Amino acid sequence: MGNIGLGHHIVGEYFRLRLGVIACRVGGAKQNGYICLVQSFIFYKAKYNMPFTIKILGSGSAAPLKGRHHSAQLVTVNQQHYLIDCGEGTQYRLIEGKTNLNKIAVIFISHLHGDHTLGLVGLISTMSLLSRKNDLKIYSPVGLSELIVEHFRISKTVLDFDLQVIEVHGNTKHQVYEDENVKVLAFPLVHGVETYGYWLEEKPRLRNLIKEKIAHLTVEEMGLLKNGHNVYDSNGEVKYALEEYTHPQPKCLSYAYCSDTMFSKKVIEAVRSCDWLYHEATYLEAHVERAVNNQHATAKQAATVAKEAGVQKLLIGHLSSRYENFDAHLAEAMKEFSNTFPATEGKVFSLL
Ligand SMILES: [Zn+2]
Repeated sequence: MGNIGLGHHIVGEYFRLRLGVIACRVGGAKQNGYICLVQSFIFYKAKYNMPFTIKILGSGSAAPLKGRHHSAQLVTVNQQHYLIDCGEGTQYRLIEGKTNLNKIAVIFISHLHGDHTLGLVGLISTMSLLSRKNDLKIYSPVGLSELIVEHFRISKTVLDFDLQVIEVHGNTKHQVYEDENVKVLAFPLVHGVETYGYWLEEKPRLRNLIKEKIAHLTVEEMGLLKNGHNVYDSNGEVKYALEEYTHPQPKCLSYAYCSDTMFSKKVIEAVRSCDWLYHEATYLEAHVERAVNNQHATAKQAATVAKEAGVQKLLIGHLSSRYENFDAHLAEAMKEFSNTFPATEGKVFSLL
């Protein structure tokens, strides 16, 4: 019997697929103010560098082109993978990039149009064939669980791991997910169907020690300071104060993903001050009427969002198949916002 979460989806007698639908889940344990020295050192080793990268797996819109596949991005923070959208054939791009599919713990789906979801069933099936045991969470607007369950019910597919589809709701920006590396917020976009953008923000990084002052400190004491704790002596007095021995906390990097959407002031507010922004640019300004009719954006509009939101860098993608390359989109966007880059397939962008 399938194990059902908080939702009401009967999965079938022969299914081991566990599928629940819940509003949202905020995980991650809070640490106590004081942690033991050994734990501190392990944490120090694990989080010394937290690379934050975005790999473009696909950046095409509805009709694919040779070399331009449907939307999908692999975001990696501190070696943990997060998949955003899963257009057709996403698993092939992941395999080409030698990504271990079973190390993807969480997937965020913007909306249910096929060019953002048609790769999901194939990817999930392959994960099962690869003997996945760890849970998989998928965050999505309403309807995805039905789509997946029906497919697996009819094809009599049995999964060997727990799959949880978590519905995203709401008209405001709100947190939907958290783990030891990131917190993720969802915010509504303006498209023909219910659509959400996602804001991924890394957790606070370790503090940097002031090199000139630490020669006499033990490794354990340095670990405590890097983790944001004062070091106390045996009388409980402060031996080494955090502010005196460390530089201020590095800024937490953030990435906002907006596909698909019309130009919207609400989107500008939702992505305000993020470090990197991906904003769809399906059309050129010459076809702005078409953009409005199909509830998409132009390259100029994407750049305007970036400029008005005060972001650092902009990625544009989701080009209509009527355009053979990024050249005109890039030129148009860079007139408004010079720090614009094309979300070319296979490219990896580092936020550091
Ligand atoms: Zn769409």
